[in-house]
Amino acid sequence: MREFEIIEKFFKPLSNHNKAAQNLSDDVAKISLKANEELVISKDAFVENVHFLLKDGAFNIASKLLRTNLSDLAASGAKPLYYMLGFSKNKNIDEKFIKEFARGLKEVQNEFNLCLIGGDTVLADPLFFSITIFGSVKKGQNLARNNAKNGDLIFVSGAIGDAHLGLQGFKSNKNYLINRHLCPTPRIELGQRLVAEKLSNCAIDVSDGLIADLQHICQASKLDAEIFFDKIPFSKEAKKVLKTNPKKNPLDLLNSGDDYELIFVVSPKNEKKVLTTAKKLKLDLTHIGQFKKSTEKKFTVSLFDQKNHKLTIKKLGYEH
Ligand code: ADP
Ligand code: MG
Repeated sequence: MREFEIIEKFFKPLSNHNKAAQNLSDDVAKISLKANEELVISKDAFVENVHFLLKDGAFNIASKLLRTNLSDLAASGAKPLYYMLGFSKNKNIDEKFIKEFARGLKEVQNEFNLCLIGGDTVLADPLFFSITIFGSVKKGQNLARNNAKNGDLIFVSGAIGDAHLGLQGFKSNKNYLINRHLCPTPRIELGQRLVAEKLSNCAIDVSDGLIADLQHICQASKLDAEIFFDKIPFSKEAKKVLKTNPKKNPLDLLNSGDDYELIFVVSPKNEKKVLTTAKKLKLDLTHIGQFKKSTEKKFTVSLFDQKNHKLTIKKLGYEH
C-alpha cells in the first residue's frame, strides 16, 4: 500500500473529524487551548525486538504504545486530547497489519477520549513506532516529581509485578498476567482526581520498576524513601505464582517495569481522603511507605521486611 492510501484509509478515520487534525491534509496540526489551560506533552517510542515483537500482533502493539503514552499524561494529572503517530512499515507489514494496528488505536482512543491529529509514515527495518501525546491541565497545576516533602506518605495504585510475570510466561486465570503486560491500564482518572481533590502534587508512573521509579522522585525531591515489602500490593494471580514457584524471587516484581501504575505522594493529613478516592474509583490505592530526610548527599530507596530488616536491592529497575 502506498503511504497516501494508508493515511486516507486507516489514519484519517482516527482523526474523528477533529478540527485540530485539519483532515490530515495539511503540513501541520493546529491545537487551540482555553485561556486557563496549559499543554502537557510526552513522547514514547517502540522499537521492534526491544519493546515489542511482531508476534505480539498489530492490535496489541498499537494498543500498548498508546496506553504507555497515556500513562505519562496520567502521572501529570492531565486530560488526554490528541496524539501524533510515527508509523513505519517494511516487507512484513501488509494491509491486514495496518488495519489491526488502527483498530488497536481506535479502541484506546474510545476508552480515553482522544484522537489522532497527524504523524509521519516511513520505511524502517526493524520497525519503529512512536507517539507524541498532548493533554491539558489547568494553568499553574503542578503534579510533578520534585514536590515530595519530608514525612509525606508514599502510595501506589493497583498491583505491582503482574506485567513482569506475564512477560515471563507465568500462566494465570483468564490470561490475567499476560494481559497486564500487553494491555496496561493508564491511571488517567486517578491522575486527574489527585489534582482536582488536592490529594497530591507529586506522582510518577511505574514504567521501569517500582523501586527505580520511586528513586526518581527521591532524586528530584532530594529525599530518602522507606517502603515495606509486606505493604506492596500484589494481585491474587501474582501471589498464586509466587506461592507455586518458590524459586521465583518476589523482589523481581519490584524491579521490573511495565506496571503503568502510579506512585503518588500524600501529606499525612490527606491519608483518609485517599481511601474515599479509592472507593470512588474502585481501584486499590495502597500506602507502602514514607519519605525521610536524607542524612547523606545521595537519595535512596530502602526496602524493609516484616521484621524491619533492611533488604538488599540488587538491581534497580530496567535501564534502556
Ligand atoms: P509532508 O510530506 O508534508 O510532511 P506527509 O505526506 O508526511 O506530509 O503527511 C501528510 C499528512 O498526513 C500530514 O497531515 C500528516 O500529519 C499525516 N500523516 C502522515 N503519516 C501519518 C501517520 N502515521 N499518522 C497520522 N497522520 C499521518
Ligand atoms: Mg509537509
